[in-house]
Amino acid sequence: MAEFLGNSRRTAYCGTVREDRIGETLTVAGWCQRRRDLGGLIFIDLRDRTGIVQLAFDDATDRAVFEKASSVRSEYVLVAEGTVRERSSKNPNIPTGNIEIFVTSLKIVGESETPPFEILDNTNVSEDLRLKYRYLDLRRPSLMNNIIFRHKVAKITRDYFDENGFIEIETPMLIKSTPEGARDYLVPSRIHKGSFYALPQSPQLYKQLCMVAGFDRYVQLARCFRDEDLRADRQPEFTQIDVEMSFVDVDDIQNMAEGYIKRLFKEALGVDIETPIPRYTYKEVMERFGSDKPDLRFGMELIDLSETVRGTAFPVFASALAEGGSVRCINAEGGAEKLTRKELDKLTEYAKGCGAKGLCWLKFGHDGVSGSFLKAVTPEEIEAIKQKAAASEGDVLLILADGNDANVLPTLGLLRLRVAEKLELERKGYKFLWVVEFPFFEFDKEAGEWVAMHHPFTSPLDECIEYLETDKGKVRAKAYDLVLNGIELSSGSIRITNPALQAKIFRLLGLTDEEAKKKFGYLLEAFRYGAPPHGGLAIGLDRLVMQMLGAGSLRDVVAYPKVQNASELMTESPAEVPQKALDDLGIAIKQ
Ligand code: ASP
Repeated sequence: MAEFLGNSRRTAYCGTVREDRIGETLTVAGWCQRRRDLGGLIFIDLRDRTGIVQLAFDDATDRAVFEKASSVRSEYVLVAEGTVRERSSKNPNIPTGNIEIFVTSLKIVGESETPPFEILDNTNVSEDLRLKYRYLDLRRPSLMNNIIFRHKVAKITRDYFDENGFIEIETPMLIKSTPEGARDYLVPSRIHKGSFYALPQSPQLYKQLCMVAGFDRYVQLARCFRDEDLRADRQPEFTQIDVEMSFVDVDDIQNMAEGYIKRLFKEALGVDIETPIPRYTYKEVMERFGSDKPDLRFGMELIDLSETVRGTAFPVFASALAEGGSVRCINAEGGAEKLTRKELDKLTEYAKGCGAKGLCWLKFGHDGVSGSFLKAVTPEEIEAIKQKAAASEGDVLLILADGNDANVLPTLGLLRLRVAEKLELERKGYKFLWVVEFPFFEFDKEAGEWVAMHHPFTSPLDECIEYLETDKGKVRAKAYDLVLNGIELSSGSIRITNPALQAKIFRLLGLTDEEAKKKFGYLLEAFRYGAPPHGGLAIGLDRLVMQMLGAGSLRDVVAYPKVQNASELMTESPAEVPQKALDDLGIAIKQ
């Protein structure tokens, strides 16, 4: 790093000094982590982005330097020159723990008030306070290292795609809306009063038009903006590794992405990811795990009991089956102890909160079988259920029945996660999978209409095109997700390039030809001038880095994140603007 040391005549970064430099005179610069006064001795832990080195001052130190050292307080910025020497009492906990710098010259180049919290990795200061003083928070080595790691990920990403013939192209931020299923952030235009730009939810259409232009392979570390109610794993602005390729099919895109993942994990973490990454259809993951982003770090697959209990007199099961639904369970293996009556009641409430009518359970305890519906079924039926679920002593079965299979699967999928947490199942490593053949449409109950599950530019599977008009629920798409440890890391698809098919899809999604033309006319037009077959995907960089680091929150991998209500606590954005600015834009605020 020597060439980057700056102009303060710094000759070493604090955290890099080792025994091999004993006897050398060095200049270091950084922040005072802490100062210890032991009578005639002063020690200062000096911190920069690479770590800490100990500065020492003793009776041999020039008195003026010693005096200055004794005036140093936490977070003062110092430049110190001195000789590296062996420490008399070594600190095995830090990499520089065998040496110290005996200071001969000290400059205080920045003073600090007492900071609102101490700069420590294991801090229990409230997150709001840390976010208000984010620049202090970022001084904490763990957070700073996360951001530096993120930089490495970005670097490897650019290298990989560059080496594979991709061209990085910046697409505009002030655009016309691109639908990805969220609300747009809007930017009013001053020149065109009453008109608004949207910030991109993704560069989707621009990257497709790059293919029409002939760039063949596009990549961008693209900032995207989606105005959604925030959950723990969302930020209103985020970064995607956005990719598009021409003359490809699903496999080509998946292979390219796998090569990237493999290279990235090896280079950044030294971890080998096995490829090819397993591919599951949407139908299969829903039936086996009750989720389109299953966590494969543990088993506990869903078990279909429908045939096992067909003919039962138990009304809950019987009516579900009579209505054409299903009865399914998960086996919480060895859960009999931990899943007490109280826990099972809580799980029942949880299942109801997820939309289930109720939850049936069967416990194979050491003192016999207990259950929520024992009296309603025969011992033979219990035995048959036990066999089918491969349950043994110590296991608990959680069973859901519903006249609509689509209600059973996701709720059982959520219970599977909840139970894994309760039973503290080991969830280690990085389990990737592809989910393919997503449904093209999904029915939005609130809006009462069919919407595109991925986006309207996604190509339906060739064999499903015939159902477009007759049976929307049956149409599957050339769409795929990359999932890691239960998190959707990436989505993508092969795109429609036939203008007639694209126009038809818009119509099926409820847009009149007029509306489609107004919103996406330029795309339909572009397809009339020679559109190569193309497809792509976008990998969420923030989520990827968070998973790689095992961080608890996106806020731990974003330098200046927003909080749950979409505000940024340090700058206090969003903020009101002067009346003049509103007037210029022709905007009046409704109270
Ligand atoms: N634009 C899509 C998204 O942001 C990804 C893609 O289809 O490439 O989810």
